[in-house]
Amino acid sequence: MAEYLSTRDPNEQLSNFADVLIQGQPFDKGLFVPAELPILDYQTLVGLAGQSYQAIFNKVHGMYVGDSISKTVQAELAAAAFSPDKFPQAEEGVVTPIREIAPNLFIQNLSLGPTAAFKDMAMQPTGQDMQYILAQRGERLTLLVATSGDTGTAAIAAFKDQPNVDIVVLSPEEGMSPYQKADMGSRSGGNVHNISLPGKFSDFQDILKELKTDPEFAGLGAVNSINWDRVASQIPYYVAGYLQATEGKVGKPVDFTVPTGNFGNILAGYFAREMGVPIRRLIAATNENDVVDRLIQTGRYQKAKTITTTSPSMDIEVASNYERLAFELFDGDPVMTRRYMEQFKQTGVVEFSDFGLASNALLKRGFESGTSTHLDRVNAIRNTYSLSGSVIDPHTADAVTVAMLMRDPEVPMVCMETALPVKFEGIVKEALGFVPVRQARFEGIEERGADGFVRLANNAEAVKDYLRHQVFAKANN
Ligand SMILES: *Cc1c(COP(=O)(O)O)cnc(C)c1O
Repeated sequence: MAEYLSTRDPNEQLSNFADVLIQGQPFDKGLFVPAELPILDYQTLVGLAGQSYQAIFNKVHGMYVGDSISKTVQAELAAAAFSPDKFPQAEEGVVTPIREIAPNLFIQNLSLGPTAAFKDMAMQPTGQDMQYILAQRGERLTLLVATSGDTGTAAIAAFKDQPNVDIVVLSPEEGMSPYQKADMGSRSGGNVHNISLPGKFSDFQDILKELKTDPEFAGLGAVNSINWDRVASQIPYYVAGYLQATEGKVGKPVDFTVPTGNFGNILAGYFAREMGVPIRRLIAATNENDVVDRLIQTGRYQKAKTITTTSPSMDIEVASNYERLAFELFDGDPVMTRRYMEQFKQTGVVEFSDFGLASNALLKRGFESGTSTHLDRVNAIRNTYSLSGSVIDPHTADAVTVAMLMRDPEVPMVCMETALPVKFEGIVKEALGFVPVRQARFEGIEERGADGFVRLANNAEAVKDYLRHQVFAKANN
C-alpha cells in the first residue's frame, strides 16, 4: 500500500518514509505527502501534556516515520538532535518554551537551536534521520542547498561531520549580514562546502533546477523545506505549544500566528490541526512580500518580485510548500493540482474560481492572514518590550503585529518566535535604542571571519565543475 503520494502524479507513490526522505522530491516535480494523516486522539494528547519536547516529538514525528526506523533508534536520533549541547538554553527538556507577553498572548520560542533560528527545529532531526538511513544502506549523498542565509547555516549545523553526507551550500556574495556570513563561513571544511556566488537566491534555485535535469547530478539530495521530513519535524512543536498554552486542558481552542515565507511552518500547523490538535485559526503573517496574505484573502495566487525587507528570511516570490495545501483543497486530486501548479508556473497567477474553488476557500478552512511593514515591526518590537521586557526579532515582530490585530481575548493566541534578536541587531537598535544582549555562545561571531567561502561564477557549469572535482572525486576516494 502506498504510504506517500506525489501531489502531481497518481502513479508516483512511495511505500515508506526512508525513500521519501532520501529522494526528497518526486520525479514529476510535485511534492510528497502522506496518503493518510495519522490521528492524535484526545487520550493521546492528554497523555503528552507535561511531557518533554523529545517525548512529544517521538510520538508525533514517529507516526510519519513508521517502520523505516525502529522506535528505539528514533528516540536516540531525537536525543542527538535536541541534545543540551545543541539547545543549551532549553531548560528541563522544554525545547520550545512559551511566555505570556500580555493576557492570553503568548510567544513560543522555536529558536534555541545552534543557529538561533527555528529552522534548526526541523533541520536537526532531518540531519539525524538522513545520516542513519544512508549508513544503513551503505550509501553516500551530496546535498545541494540554495540559501539567502538562514537555511544554509541551519543545514550546515545539522550535517557537519555526518560521515555519509557532503553538503554544498550556494549563498549570495552580497546581502547576508556580517553575522550570517561569519556564522556560515566559519563552519566550512570537512564535508561542508560553502560557495558564494554573485547573484541572488532565485538564480541559485535556477542552478539547482538545471542540475536536477542533468543525469550526472540527478542524484543530489535536498533538505530545503520541500523535503517531507522538514514538515513532519515541525508538527510536534504545535502540539507542544498547544499543550503549554492550554495547560493541558485538551479541547480548548488556541489560535496560532506564524511568520510566513515559504509556507513550511504554517503548513505543519495545518497538519497538526488535521491530526486532531484543537487549533482554531492559523494566521499567516507576511512582511511586504505578501503573496500568501493575498492568496488567503482573495483566492488568487500570484507571483511577485521579491522586495528586500528587514525580516529577510521571509523575502520570497512564491511559497513553495503551499502546493501541499493546494493538493488538500483539491481533495487529493493530483491531476487538478498539476494543472493548477502548471498554470501558475506558466503565467505566474492562478485563481481558485478557475479551478472550481470558492475564492474564500482558505478562510473557510480556518486560515487567516495579515501583512506587516518595517514600521509595524519596529512598533511591535517596542510594544513587546514595553509590555513584557522581552526583546524579539523582526520576523517574530511580523507575527506580533498581525496577532495584535486579530486576537480574541477569550482564546489564547500563540505567536511563533522564529529567530533570536541577536541575529538582527540593526532593527532592534532602531526600535529600542540598544542591541540585544548576546549569550556567550554568540559573542564575537563576526570576528570568526567570513573567509570560508569559495567564489564561483553565477552559472550551473561552474557549480557542476566544482561538484565533479571537489566533491564527487573526493567522496569516491
Ligand atoms: C525561514 C524563516 C521563516 C519562514 O518560514 P517558512 O516555513 O518558510 O514559512 C520565518 N522566520 C525566520 C526567521 C526564518 O528563518
